Amino acid sequence: MKEKVLIIGAGYAGSVVANKLAREFRKKIARDELEITILDRDDTSINQGGFTFLPFGLYTPEDIVRKRRKLISPRVNTAFGDAGEVTSIDLNSKEVGVKSGKRYNYDYLVIAMGARADADAVPGLADELNTFYTSIEGATQVGEKIRSMDKGDIVVSVAAMPIPCPGAPVKFTFLLDSYLRNVLKNREQFNLTLLWPMEPIGPPEFNKLVSGLLKEKNIEVKRSFPLGQVDAAKKELSSKEGETVNYDLLIAVPPHKPQKVLSDSGITDEKGWVPCDRTTLQYRGPAGNHDNVYILGDNGPADILKTGIGAHYQALVVSQNLINDIYGNNTKAPYEGETGCPIITEMETPSSAGQAYIATWNYGVMPAPFKPTKMGWYMYRMYYYLHWDMSVKGLF
Ligand SMILES: Cc1cc2nc3c(=O)[nH]c(=O)nc-3n(C[C@H](O)[C@H](O)[C@H](O)COP(=O)(O)OP(=O)(O)OC[C@H]3O[C@@H](n4cnc5c(N)ncnc54)[C@H](O)[C@@H]3O)c2cc1C
Repeated sequence: MKEKVLIIGAGYAGSVVANKLAREFRKKIARDELEITILDRDDTSINQGGFTFLPFGLYTPEDIVRKRRKLISPRVNTAFGDAGEVTSIDLNSKEVGVKSGKRYNYDYLVIAMGARADADAVPGLADELNTFYTSIEGATQVGEKIRSMDKGDIVVSVAAMPIPCPGAPVKFTFLLDSYLRNVLKNREQFNLTLLWPMEPIGPPEFNKLVSGLLKEKNIEVKRSFPLGQVDAAKKELSSKEGETVNYDLLIAVPPHKPQKVLSDSGITDEKGWVPCDRTTLQYRGPAGNHDNVYILGDNGPADILKTGIGAHYQALVVSQNLINDIYGNNTKAPYEGETGCPIITEMETPSSAGQAYIATWNYGVMPAPFKPTKMGWYMYRMYYYLHWDMSVKGLF
């Protein structure tokens, strides 16, 4: 009997799983013993990591966008747009509905639908939403606003955790400092402030390094500063505890949550995310225990860090476990929390050497002391091109 794997969300994680399974099971697919289907609400993939660089002209929109059909193996059935937009998920009857009305059933389900920004969660934020976090247009406008100013107070605020890639706002702040200093040559006309919702910025060695560099670069940091509200008319924001900060330009990272269809389908936990076993990534939650349902990427539990690097490792584990399930091997590959945070502390310009490092860690082993390097900068810049042809295609 033909087995069916259904992947919902053709972003980073879902695409890697689809491509790895298509390669492993090419003969079964050719014999019509297995069907792999991937669904997404649109047909274009965006490498969101590139949003951090767009304001500074380091990548163009074309660099970070590809048509999904060019990324997914032709052995995989695809449905994008209304035919792929998931509107209901029923884990007990093993059925997924889409906007066009069609219903898909499955033997194995992979849920990889990412996270979404929710600016309305902070009163007043939607009236003053300059963010590089959610779209190419938003990131481009942030760059235009920076270039339109010749002096003032620029505040970067991370409203709440968890967010995808918690290191990205720190990286953005360092890039902003470097851009003003080395490209626009007007850094001394600006006060830069980073408002951070927690006490530490990442694991201990990460926190130590960025804390020292923020001080060295004269960037003020206010920690334990979750964003409470924004008053656009007064150009004033306040923390949840009522501390106020004034700004000329506010660049914010809104709170994030999972897609509405996940909570509407009754499969999310009390924190709003899709719960799973932290090691096997199998669904464990209000809809019961489902060994045939895997959760990966940004829609996963709040206590698994949401990064592209983590999503990639999770996709490798889920692919291997689906391969084991389908062959009936009865073994499980563990996800051990492998994740990472690429940090950039200086951009490469005629007057500055690029400095970057990709710190990695897992559940049990935090990063060792590290130092950003020029080689790290070049590796990071290169990665954005490898992303499409190697990472997303599941080749490593
Ligand atoms: C500004 C920014 C910078 C970042 N920088 C880095 C970085 O430097 N390094 C790093 O490792 N990570 C970084 N990340 C995080 C990284 O982009 C994410 O962790 C990664 O994309 C998660 O992959 P995913 O597959 O879970 O989600 P996504 O890639 O977001 O894919 C989710 C997919 O689900 C689809 N979908 C949503 N709702 C529906 C629906 N109802 N029906 C059908 N499909 C649906 C979406 O269209 C999307 O294609 C950054 C993120 C941001 C926002």
